[in-house]
Amino acid sequence: MSDIINILPDSVANQIAAGEVVDRPASAVKELLENSMDAGASQIDLILKDAGRTLIQVIDNGCGMSDSDARLCFERHATSKIHRADDLFAIRTMGFRGEALASIAAIAQVELRTRLHDAELGTAIVIEGSHIVSQQPAACPPGTSLAVKNLFYNVPARRNFLKKDSVELSHIEEVFRRITLVHCDLGFSLQHNGKLLYDLKPGSMLQRIAQLYGSYYKERFFSVEEETDLVRIKGFVGKPEHSRKTRGEQYLFVNGRYIKHPALAAAVEKAYTDLLPDRSYPSYFIALQVDPSRIDINIHPNKTEVRFVDDHALFAILRSAVKKALGQFTLATELSFDTPPEFNIGPAPSGYIPQQPSVKYNPDYNPFSSSGARGSNKGATGSEKTNLLFDSNDDSTIVPSLPFTPSHSPSLPPIPSPACLQLQGRYIATSLSSGLALIDQRRALERILFDRLSQTGSQAARQSQTLLFPVNCQFSAADADLLAELKPELQAYGFALEAVGQTTYVVTATPPDVQEADLQPFFEQVLSDYKASTLQKFADRDQSLRASLARQMAARAGTSLSQEEMQQLVADLFACPMADTTPSGRRIITIVKPEELLK
Ligand code: ADP
Ligand code: MG
Repeated sequence: MSDIINILPDSVANQIAAGEVVDRPASAVKELLENSMDAGASQIDLILKDAGRTLIQVIDNGCGMSDSDARLCFERHATSKIHRADDLFAIRTMGFRGEALASIAAIAQVELRTRLHDAELGTAIVIEGSHIVSQQPAACPPGTSLAVKNLFYNVPARRNFLKKDSVELSHIEEVFRRITLVHCDLGFSLQHNGKLLYDLKPGSMLQRIAQLYGSYYKERFFSVEEETDLVRIKGFVGKPEHSRKTRGEQYLFVNGRYIKHPALAAAVEKAYTDLLPDRSYPSYFIALQVDPSRIDINIHPNKTEVRFVDDHALFAILRSAVKKALGQFTLATELSFDTPPEFNIGPAPSGYIPQQPSVKYNPDYNPFSSSGARGSNKGATGSEKTNLLFDSNDDSTIVPSLPFTPSHSPSLPPIPSPACLQLQGRYIATSLSSGLALIDQRRALERILFDRLSQTGSQAARQSQTLLFPVNCQFSAADADLLAELKPELQAYGFALEAVGQTTYVVTATPPDVQEADLQPFFEQVLSDYKASTLQKFADRDQSLRASLARQMAARAGTSLSQEEMQQLVADLFACPMADTTPSGRRIITIVKPEELLK
């Protein structure tokens, strides 16, 4: 019998390990930025080509490395950050595993130039696929520059797995935000394909938020601050009126590290109870500082989970801190508003005896009585048609029947539509042959608008109205870039917009369903949806853009509808081939069968 076990060569072992640490350019960016921060840099510049595919370079003014450290740093388990197992319980640096550089060097061509501050000369090293190609003394500024070229050049499977540049870049930007938002005392820049996207100066967290998202963001937040023995909390929570329909800007940090922690996030959202409209989410940027021995971050480098020893106490403190921040807000607005006019009821004249208001109703009316099953309201004596809902009048009424067969509008006969009733400004109830249909008004509109936008080139898709006064919208540099990318599609859908300067757009026309007062949040939400959908690898970018536009238009449409408007909406809905769900798959119509009604 012969022996069959080999020890893998380091280059192979490193490549395998690399799969865990570096799965896309963004994760290499994260590791390099963290190394620069650990090296005590005060300025860190990130340079990218082709969304990191061709080049990721990080230049810092940190401590730099000696000649031999420069070579050693590419070895696996080479770290200056921990010395013994005990150190694991008091981690104060971002990295500590000594894996990142070894992994990156296994799957890319890496050039390191580094110099200690008190050294005359630095070192330049070239390493490819874990093999050192050259090392020589070099004249370079103090600090470190690490250039990662052609990531995954020797791992075609990974390389082919990369998404479009815009997607990879949005992952990198997310990493960049997660780091720069909480390290506000450091300067950062981000340059992509020769264009400076961000140039962040050291400053306060609020200034950092404004630099990343646009200066108008400053007005949207309240500051949270709290200090207890257990935790120091500092950050900003969004004003309720700026809540979003998606969980967009929700950032929690612990000891300078971005974390995901559902329970902590829930504690923040709890503080907003009753302040937000249905299905809206607050934005927040909150940094916690806790004793490193009270948390466990010794987990996978790409994961963002963290465990706290004192979790329950922490949640309670966080929630009350956020509540306090929001409470100050509600008090302030209450004081600044006059009493609403409708409560200005003068004192009653003396001797006035208020009368009990009376309600007229027909005590005999029973919509469920068997005689009324086919709709005639025989039992009712009142002339008012209180049972509109259940009354399908006569059998000649043409009602679309379910399930919905694809019936495009031209084939649909002009509808002597059944009567509709609006419930809670949210649902339309109407009678169909299969039962009582409850239609979610907003979702119905979303489906109709989506289908309209999808008929590209059609008159409907190009409908546009010129605004009386052009509207200026402000964006972050990155959002402005994204908007430039989406401009052709937006134009096809009826928007006219032009960039003025780096971050401002002036909008001169919109489709008829868009309110001009709302344009800023409208575009913000569309961009944030679009980014979220590219992150979630949605198949078709046009489709996700259309879905988001339709959702935003529908969300902002008026809610109270006349009888004709309701009937039109129902008819338009049933003309859609997929009338029963929204583009994102949410149910639009619920049918209550006659049998169920009888119950
Ligand atoms: P870790 O960060 O977990 O220690 P890395 O592989 O990321 O592991 O880095 C290995 C070592 O290389 C670090 O511990 C540090 O000593 C050194 N190093 C890496 N990047 C820099 C840098 N930008 N400046 C100075 N030293 C660095
Ligand atoms: Mg590291």
